[in-house]
Amino acid sequence: MSKTQLKAVLTQDQLPTDYYNIQHDLPEPLPPPLDPRTLQPMSPEPLLRLFAKECVMQEVSTQEFIPIPEEVREAYLRLGRPTPLYRATRLEQKLGTPAKIYFKREDLNPAGSHKPNTAIAQAYYHRKEGTERLTTETGAGQWGSALALATALFDIDLTVYMTRASYDQKPYRRTLMEVYGAEVHASPSSKTSAGKKFLGQDPNHPGSLGIAISEAIEDCVTHDNTKYALGSVLNHVLTHQSVIGQEAKLQMEEFGEDPDYIVGCIGGGSNYAGLAYPFMRDKLRGRSDAVFVAAEPKAVPSTTRGEYRYDFADTGETTPLIKMHTVGHSYQCPPIHAGGLRYHGKAPSMCMLIDKGFMRSVAYTQNEIMDAGLLLAQTEGIVPAPESNHAVKAAVDIALECKRKNEAKTILFNLSGHGLLDLKAYEDKLANKLIDYEPDSAALGKALESLPVVR
Ligand SMILES: *Cc1c(COP(=O)(O)O)cnc(C)c1O
Repeated sequence: MSKTQLKAVLTQDQLPTDYYNIQHDLPEPLPPPLDPRTLQPMSPEPLLRLFAKECVMQEVSTQEFIPIPEEVREAYLRLGRPTPLYRATRLEQKLGTPAKIYFKREDLNPAGSHKPNTAIAQAYYHRKEGTERLTTETGAGQWGSALALATALFDIDLTVYMTRASYDQKPYRRTLMEVYGAEVHASPSSKTSAGKKFLGQDPNHPGSLGIAISEAIEDCVTHDNTKYALGSVLNHVLTHQSVIGQEAKLQMEEFGEDPDYIVGCIGGGSNYAGLAYPFMRDKLRGRSDAVFVAAEPKAVPSTTRGEYRYDFADTGETTPLIKMHTVGHSYQCPPIHAGGLRYHGKAPSMCMLIDKGFMRSVAYTQNEIMDAGLLLAQTEGIVPAPESNHAVKAAVDIALECKRKNEAKTILFNLSGHGLLDLKAYEDKLANKLIDYEPDSAALGKALESLPVVR
């Protein structure tokens, strides 16, 4: 037996008791959401029609720790929390790096990604507040299946609008949602007037996340006792994900390590914030000089080539304006396999931290990240989600940099999900069929030009 410690596993008692809210420690308060008509700050009041009251309160709260309800902790335990944290020694050896690489296993719950961490909390608050039915949208189906799992546990009905292209191409995630008892419609659908409008233009419309959001919100506001849930970007979602980093901190202590690099992929920012913010808390208090690296696709380069400014959170221009790094809400995200990273903006708190230099970001092409995924599969035996491969790639790059400089640094990345329902991406990679999309400046400039100007 090797003497090297390969994994850190926490006991049931070590499951976090509170969520950590970064808004308590940000260098300045978050810029307020604005009303798109008046460009004046908006009160959170209208959000109450859509979201659970507890979530709306958390959205604007600056309270450092928010107790995790016992029922939610019990559901976390049932679904495999605390998740283990592994050391990737075979990957280290393959790279020939003196660096140590650790990763957090958010792929291990029954839905296969970090998303149940917030889905369970949101479903619980809704149950407690008497919500009988939820609506939501999903692209590739990760969020839809996480919420379907959570609503099954808390006995709430769920209707999911799934983009038509994914509905046809990813039938297994649709089936998974139905197994958990959710009702799934291909979007655009004939269930809503928004859907009918797009179907009228093109009966074979492939749909988009923006259209699916409009349908889910319309369904919510036109039905009694129905609310809506969102799987990323919002402050309360990031707060729920903080269980990842709180556990990881304990686990790195168990390894006797303090990570020099903390790495993750960013779609809306929630899984990476989940891992990073409990460590960022130390950095914001001057107690750590860890380097934070967020990885995004070159096809959707919000933080690496976008602008930090006010934009709509959706394509249909129905939401308040929020300040974030964005490529513009009208930007057509190319059809990359990492469907969870096809979002024009990023979470406001993360964007502030990037803007102020507390966090850096990098971008990769599809072929680069899938190569990294193959490397992890062939060394550590785990097949990551295409989204997670962005984090793997960033960790590998840092490890190779350490090799050049002969530095034994410690790297921690988040494995946000498994790729066993994304084998098409691997099939295309192995058949050399993956296209590397990179927008030219003209395409990016055009989407940014149309944004509201806020002084
Ligand atoms: C949805 C998803 C992401 C991206 O969303 P974030 O909010 O940025 O975490 C990343 N990885 C996986 C596996 C996902 O399902």
